[in-house]
Amino acid sequence: MNPPSSALRGRVVVAAVAVGAFAAAAAGQTLKAGQTSSDDVTPLADSKNASAQLGGGIGGSSSAAAPEVLTVAKMSTAPVEAQKIASTNQIVQARVAAAAAARAEAERPKFALPAEGRFTSGFGARWGGSHLGIDIANSIGTPIYAAADGVVIEAGTASGFGLWVRIQHDDGTITVYGHMQDYSVSEGDRVKAGEQIARIGNRGQSTGPHLHFEVWDEGTRKINPRTWLLDHGIVL
Ligand SMILES: [Zn+2]
Repeated sequence: MNPPSSALRGRVVVAAVAVGAFAAAAAGQTLKAGQTSSDDVTPLADSKNASAQLGGGIGGSSSAAAPEVLTVAKMSTAPVEAQKIASTNQIVQARVAAAAAARAEAERPKFALPAEGRFTSGFGARWGGSHLGIDIANSIGTPIYAAADGVVIEAGTASGFGLWVRIQHDDGTITVYGHMQDYSVSEGDRVKAGEQIARIGNRGQSTGPHLHFEVWDEGTRKINPRTWLLDHGIVL
């Protein structure tokens, strides 16, 4: 079998394009073979021949192929219409993706437990002093999460805490995380609720690996973190 001539390949490609474009532009029309080349419907009839050649072997008879290029040329607006349809589909797909992303954003939790572990110490009087946060004990390296969306306003060393991270939330509340082994955020970072920011450690004035967690209402007044978490649906 002889390889197809480049001219035939060209006709087949053009005709194949016409099949798709015409089908998109003129769906629903009833078409008949054998019409004259002056009829608007003719291209599909010729394209059917081209399709048959594609399906049955490119080396087949091409005696009927010669006029195809001319008839396809009459369809020059069809590929444009097909392109418009493709563009519209892309726009629809982009809008679907955007809507899905918006829904995921709306439905994701806006508060999170700052760490898994044992609740070992509450807020208030302790050892003759005041314990202004809560403690969650777990092994060194346990993930620590941002309790809510916010901006990291400090990440570094702090007296008593060893290391600490402070996050200011959108309503002005500040949450504080202490004694960690290490942290993975920097000042200025925007974080989301549940995003890992650090790992539990035993640094500073600490008697065992745990997270010390504080909540500063309006950025200054230290309140009971357990109550604050409960108010936002997080049970510890
Ligand atoms: Zn503590």
